[in-house]
Amino acid sequence: MNKGKQIRPPYAADLSRFGQTCPECEGMCSNACEENIIIIGKDRTPHLDFSKGGCTYCGACLEACSPGVLSHTEEPIHAAVRINPLKCVSWQGVMCFSCKEPCLDNAIDFKGLYKPDINASRCTSCGFCIGRCPSEAIETTFFKGNE
Ligand code: SF4
Ligand code: SF4
Ligand code: SF4
Repeated sequence: MNKGKQIRPPYAADLSRFGQTCPECEGMCSNACEENIIIIGKDRTPHLDFSKGGCTYCGACLEACSPGVLSHTEEPIHAAVRINPLKCVSWQGVMCFSCKEPCLDNAIDFKGLYKPDINASRCTSCGFCIGRCPSEAIETTFFKGNE
């Protein structure tokens, strides 16, 4: 689903700190996340898994991160979310609104009843739509701070 780099938790302005600091940490952010979307990988750094949920921007991971990797309250999740028209059943003419309902930001625009498209200016990259798509058509792209 993800293309390329891992998607990190929100609130991080300096993404290089995940590799530098997190391997020495016990992963408090992961334990704090009530959505259970923060996974500690084999390299002992955290990434987000949107397959079963999304980020509410509750701030629990931010509060738990005593080393300060997560410390910038205004920083969103560093990912762009888009719908792949080649995989989306609605783009193939089948009526489907599975992604629209979980999007509390109303960021998914349909052309009439079909052809959904994510409005980047409203999308918070929360990920709630991703696991709801029956055809795995919603993709994330890491967009800045390559490590
Ligand atoms: S802000 Fe809340 S829901 Fe989002 S990743 Fe952090 S703890 Fe999880
Ligand atoms: S709590 Fe902070 S330092 Fe620890 S793994 Fe999570 S982001 Fe890294
Ligand atoms: S990732 Fe964007 S389009 Fe998907 S539910 Fe969240 S705000 Fe809506």
